[in-house]
Amino acid sequence: MEPPLASLLRAESFLHSLADALGSPLNVLLPEVVAENAARFRAVYRRHRLAGRVYFAHKANRSAALVRRLAAEDAAVGVDVASLGELRHALSCGFTGERIMATGPKDAEFLWLAARVGATVNLDSPGELERLSGLVRTHGLGRVAVLVRLSRFESAAAHGGAGTRLLSRRSRFGTPLRDAGELVAALERHADAVELTGAAYHLDTTGLEEKVRALEQCVLFLDECRARGLAPRAVDIGGGFGAGYVADAGEWERWTTALSEAVLGVRPPLTWRGHGYGLRNEGGTVRGTAALYPGHRPVAGPGYLDELLSLPAPVLGRPPATLLLEHLHDLHVEPGRSLVDQCGLSLARVLDVRPADADSGRYLVRLGMNAGDVSLEEHGVLVDPVLLPRGGPGGNGAGGESGESGEGGEGPVGVFLAGNLCLEADLITRRLVFLPRLPRAGDLLAFANTAGYAMDFHAHRAQRQPLARTVAVEREGGSWRWRPDEDYWPITHPGGMSA
Ligand SMILES: *Cc1c(COP(=O)(O)O)cnc(C)c1O
Repeated sequence: MEPPLASLLRAESFLHSLADALGSPLNVLLPEVVAENAARFRAVYRRHRLAGRVYFAHKANRSAALVRRLAAEDAAVGVDVASLGELRHALSCGFTGERIMATGPKDAEFLWLAARVGATVNLDSPGELERLSGLVRTHGLGRVAVLVRLSRFESAAAHGGAGTRLLSRRSRFGTPLRDAGELVAALERHADAVELTGAAYHLDTTGLEEKVRALEQCVLFLDECRARGLAPRAVDIGGGFGAGYVADAGEWERWTTALSEAVLGVRPPLTWRGHGYGLRNEGGTVRGTAALYPGHRPVAGPGYLDELLSLPAPVLGRPPATLLLEHLHDLHVEPGRSLVDQCGLSLARVLDVRPADADSGRYLVRLGMNAGDVSLEEHGVLVDPVLLPRGGPGGNGAGGESGESGEGGEGPVGVFLAGNLCLEADLITRRLVFLPRLPRAGDLLAFANTAGYAMDFHAHRAQRQPLARTVAVEREGGSWRWRPDEDYWPITHPGGMSA
């Protein structure tokens, strides 16, 4: 954890008073950090002398504060919206149309509003191009800037005569590169309604080489478009720059090795009822792949972009940054998770603690939240929560003695974290989590770094359990100030915090 998030976690009595007032679960956001992250991406652009925009992939978090804070940045920061609701939200937060990129499959209302406000439409399919062009003509809208989202880059590589089949992630989004010719013909037919401004991809992978190859294929595709008289000028390489959740590579490796050993039965289970995260024991051999986010990432976020721009591209041999400069292309990126890295935490109240199974020495800790409220497991992100005892470190209630930690309490104690639903599967962690001592009802658990997908992506109202409230916090002098997320605006009032 970096300083703002780390120091927020140390503000235990502040976090306790927030949860007392606003309930559990509770999301706490640091809007200043999202701006710092955007600045780090911009610094990579400067290093490579590239122009273009950093579009925040809104889907990573529903917060208004984060989007408003980014709207206050200069025009090189935009927002990527994937639904009519996100588009309306971005506009209401202060983004003007030309700073908005509309991605994903789109319905007519989403297309109409995007076209109306002058957003760039990242075309998902030839059908979408037809529908958009029809809307533009019927409603007398201005010509819309469009990017074509491409996928399945491997087929082009094979046609190129390299002789080897290069794999690329399958995606149900975008147009396969081999069908791009027809798409270009359609773009020419609809030139009165749309203007091709570039090519795009978004690959859900950590593989750098796969992304370098896709970027180069986009550049080559745009060369063909230019040869046909079109005037594209940007490559949008999507998101997926990633975030590192575990600082220590060794720690991550030890845990994943131990998981394999547990699946084989050569060490005690590490997980609830032997859950294997996708791994299984087949006659003494571990099979399957662990559905886990790579907790430790040697490079992630802006550093990953830097590497991606610097590796040699397979066909032309020069790095992507050089290819973009030679072709006078802008570079657009759509980071989600990496732009909200270190931007917040989720709090849950401990409701109840009891032994998990007779004699196991493990405990079941029931929290005032469910697996939809902090969907770390859903995304395979394994991060231990931080125990914030009621009454301060080592204390409890009316200031208990340190070391007096009750049952099972002297050293670290292994617990499973269960949610507030009457559902066997509602586990917040399916793995054993070690806390410095056994928590007690009233303590808080803080899940750090949840702003990317883990805060509200899967939140629901099952059993009428409360949805988490979200607050934006800022450090002012020696203390923390907070506001409801929806009341945050990036304005500094004289004599006070931005309020
Ligand atoms: C989800 C998504 C992103 C963001 O991905 P991250 O992995 O969060 O960076 C960007 N672009 C598109 C099209 C997406 O679907």
